[in-house]
Amino acid sequence: MRQFIVLLALFYVCEGVTFGQLCNGNPDNEMRTSDIWGYGHYGARREDGTHTGVDIVCEDGSVVYAPFDVTLVRGLIIYLNKPERDPVNNGLMMRGEGLCVKLFYIEPDKTTGTVLKGERIGKMMRMQSVWPGMTSHVHVQLCDKSDPTSYF
Ligand code: ZN
Repeated sequence: MRQFIVLLALFYVCEGVTFGQLCNGNPDNEMRTSDIWGYGHYGARREDGTHTGVDIVCEDGSVVYAPFDVTLVRGLIIYLNKPERDPVNNGLMMRGEGLCVKLFYIEPDKTTGTVLKGERIGKMMRMQSVWPGMTSHVHVQLCDKSDPTSYF
């Protein structure tokens, strides 16, 4: 039974889930490349280790959409004891298509229930007020911290 479930999971992954448009104004899910604060790709160097997600360009205040049919799991608080980061300190955890995904820096409309691909899930937070000059972006991270790049 367990092997069957693993096979089924592999099938889902190999089927090639592709994320739909994540952010209004960025129809191709363009990735943050480099800016004065760093790089947006998976594995980029960070002051506290490596970057375990990919950054998808999204202007502050933009509407954010469900990248596939999702079940919302819960809201996220990203940083503890860093009040200066309050304007970007929310996110959303979701499951669907065999994946578990965390999106950072969005103010969720709601934190439970189901949402169809392309439907609104929230709004991009005020990144420029915390990191001026950074390419504002939604951080997309798989719950197991593996590389999500191939889903874009
Ligand atoms: Zn990131």
